[in-house]
Amino acid sequence: TGRFDGQQVLVAGAGVSGRSAAEALLAAGASVTVTDASSDRLAALASLQAQGAELVAGLSEPPAGTDLVVTSPGWRPESPLLSATAAAGVELIGEVELAWRLDQEKAEAGPDPTGRRAAPATWLAVTGTNGKTTTVGMLESILRAGGVDVVACGNVGLPVVDAVRAGHQVLAVELSSFQLHWSDSLAAHAAVVLNLAADHLDWHGTLDAYGEAKSKVYAGNAVAVHNADDEWSARLADAGARPRARRVSFTLSAPAEGQLGIDGGELVDRAFGDRVPLATLADVHPAGPHNTANALAAAALARAYGIGPHAVADGLRSFEPGAHRSVPVAEAAGVSYVDDSKATNPHAAAAALRAHPRVVWIAGGLLKGADVEELVASNADRLDAVVLIGRDRSRFAEALARHAPDVPVREVESGDDAGMLPAVRLASELARPGSVVLLAPAAASMDMFTDYAHRGRAFADAVRAVLAAVPANG
Ligand code: ADP
Repeated sequence: TGRFDGQQVLVAGAGVSGRSAAEALLAAGASVTVTDASSDRLAALASLQAQGAELVAGLSEPPAGTDLVVTSPGWRPESPLLSATAAAGVELIGEVELAWRLDQEKAEAGPDPTGRRAAPATWLAVTGTNGKTTTVGMLESILRAGGVDVVACGNVGLPVVDAVRAGHQVLAVELSSFQLHWSDSLAAHAAVVLNLAADHLDWHGTLDAYGEAKSKVYAGNAVAVHNADDEWSARLADAGARPRARRVSFTLSAPAEGQLGIDGGELVDRAFGDRVPLATLADVHPAGPHNTANALAAAALARAYGIGPHAVADGLRSFEPGAHRSVPVAEAAGVSYVDDSKATNPHAAAAALRAHPRVVWIAGGLLKGADVEELVASNADRLDAVVLIGRDRSRFAEALARHAPDVPVREVESGDDAGMLPAVRLASELARPGSVVLLAPAAASMDMFTDYAHRGRAFADAVRAVLAAVPANG
């Protein structure tokens, strides 16, 4: 029997990962209670009751006798339930930590009924402020091209618990700072912090606390990969990696020994080989320096697992980019319209802006404690015009007045998604042939939209509506 057999476990949060955690715990013999503030969300888990789970809405402390609380990643440590858990001295972990423990148990358990001895997966972990989903997707694609049984999981969508239970050989795991905050014994074979910039400070408090959560990804790695072009990434690897870990880095410049980098239009590996060409810049898409960095990070993790160079090129070519990440939506009268709704913080928007020389920028939303001063200052010269939407738009307007006083700025009074239509109409009027109308809001979307995907769809719909209303060559 495993370590969860007979344990009394409270699952806090009835979302996607909470459901998977509860199912896995029931299968492992635990007695499980699930709580959520919303009884509607709990009701969606009614099928778990047949398996013995108890569903209780709105618990503010763990029931007496609770051995372990598994929390959903977004819950704040200072929420009533989690602070009561800490005060009661009950162990508190997240779904990723649960997945890790369940996976490690396979090594201790005997053969399964078919006589097979289940082995834990090899975990390759990716975190950072931006580029995580893209990097994990590229990594998955590269490993598949190399014939490996791999699945992308974690913050990308598939709960890690489910990936562990499915028994894949390798897990390409995307980890958010929240998930890392709630993980304590996780020790991925190889890991990378892609970059670090201000985001989620409303949750973590300070950039240092946010960085500390991210650096936990390096704990116990055999290979610790960092981004040599990002000061924070190197610092976090120094702080988090074991002294005996193999240290590897990547750069957009020519690689030194121990690095992957770019030389003569090629991605070149000087860490796991002697100047081995891996792929060409043309294999990386969507094109742009930030995606080249993501490709190098994915290649480093794949190489750390022992993947050959050809699979890197094949995997990058067959990689399918995610929706709302620098996706061209339409082109008319020499103006193209690009949806990067996933640019939910200033650092991501900077990368999106840098990929285009002339931009009519649609920005604004919820800044989550971030600052736009530097973003605006360093991109002022590529702006043809700016259209501001969302709650924190005046913060953008003030920075623009300081750093780009000659750039036309329009604001849309917008409390809901209908605001996207006038925003796109204004942007298309301000655009000149050669401009890119770029939705890269640098902010979260929840003031006007359900999420970034909803915002991206609203943009694409608005673009189609505006272009349909304008006669061609008119
Ligand atoms: P995440 O999963 O970390 O949110 P994504 O891969 O979904 O990252 O990319 C989100 C957005 O961040 C992209 O749409 C792009 O605007 C920006 N971005 C992607 N990669 C990087 C990077 N390496 N550095 C900075 N910004 C990036």
